[in-house]
Amino acid sequence: MADRITIVVPVYNEAEGLPLFVGRLTPVLESLGVDWTVLFVNDGSVDATLVRLRDLNESDPRFTAISLSRNFGKETAIAAGLHYADGDAVILMDGDAQHPPEMLPAFLERWRAGFKVVLGSREGMAEEGALRRLYSRSFHALFRLIAAPRLPRGAVDFLLLDRKAVDAMNRLGERTRFSKGLYAWIGFEHTTIPFAVGGRVAGQSSWNFTRLLGFAVDGLVSFSTIPLKVWSYLGLVVSACAMLYALVFLIRTLVSGTDQPGFPSLIVSIMFFSGVQLISLGVLGEYVARIYEEVKRRPLFLIGEEIGVTEPHQKRHA
Ligand code: UDP
Ligand code: MG
Repeated sequence: MADRITIVVPVYNEAEGLPLFVGRLTPVLESLGVDWTVLFVNDGSVDATLVRLRDLNESDPRFTAISLSRNFGKETAIAAGLHYADGDAVILMDGDAQHPPEMLPAFLERWRAGFKVVLGSREGMAEEGALRRLYSRSFHALFRLIAAPRLPRGAVDFLLLDRKAVDAMNRLGERTRFSKGLYAWIGFEHTTIPFAVGGRVAGQSSWNFTRLLGFAVDGLVSFSTIPLKVWSYLGLVVSACAMLYALVFLIRTLVSGTDQPGFPSLIVSIMFFSGVQLISLGVLGEYVARIYEEVKRRPLFLIGEEIGVTEPHQKRHA
C-alpha cells in the first residue's frame, strides 16, 4: 500500500497567491508516487481564500480544508491542521510559496530513511531586511542561553513529521504554542535539510515588529523559567551592595563626624531600582498571564467549516 502523506498549509488572506501555489505544488505531489491529500487551514481570512478553497475541493477532492471560526494565528492554525491530518507522514508548509514544493522528495527520502522529524532550515532570507535578521539572530542567541530545548538553527515551519511525532504534538495541550520549540521538545530522530527561501508570490507578510516581539516573548516564556528566577539573585546582589554602602557611610560618619549631601545619587538610585522592580513585576505578569490562559481551558481553536474532511473522532482538541 502506498504511503499516505498529508500536506498541512495554514493560509491567511492568501487568495491571490493560492492558484500559483497549488499550480507549483500539484506536479510535485503527483511525481511522489504516494497517496496524498492537502489540508489547508483557513485562519479566518477576510478575502476570497475560503471560496477558493471550496472551489479547489470541488475540482479535486484531494484538496481539503478546514476553516477556523476566526483568525487564531499561525501557531494555532498549525495545531488545528495537525489535529485533522491523518497521513502516515505530515508535511507542514506556508501557503505563500516561500517554501519550495520542489523540496518534498528530499523530505520523503529522509523520512523513509527512518527520521521521524525532518526540518527545513532556511539558507537565506530572500526579502527580509538586515533589521529582521538581527532581530532573529539575537532572539536565537537569547533562547540558546536561557531556554531548555536547543532550537535547530534556521528552523522554520517547513517540515515533515512522522505519524508518531504528529501524535506527540497532538498530546501537548498548551495554549501558547511555540512550535519551533515544541518540535525540538518532542524528541525522536531529527534531521535538517537546508533550503533557500523564495519571495512571497503575492500579498504581504502578516508579521510586523509587535507581532514578532510577542512571538519571541511567547517562545522564551514557554520554554524557560530563568526570567522568573533571575530577580532573586539580582535582589541578593543589590541588597549586599546596599549593606556594604551603609557600612561605608557609618564608618565615614563615625570617623569624620559629618554626613554628606547626596541628593543626585539618591534620585538616580531610586529611579534605577523602581525600574528594576517594575521590570521584574512585568516578567512575573507574563508568567501569571500564561497560567491564567491555561486554567481557563478554552478550546485551542474553533472550526467554522470542514471542506472534504471530518474531525478524527478518537482525538479531541484539548
Ligand atoms: N498565516 C496564518 N495565520 C496568520 C498569519 C499567517 O495562517 O495569522 C499563514 C500565512 O497565510 C502563510 C504562513 O502562515 O501561509 C506564513 O505567513 P507569512 O508569510 O505572513 O509569514 P513569514 O513568511 O513572513 O514568516
Ligand atoms: Mg511568508
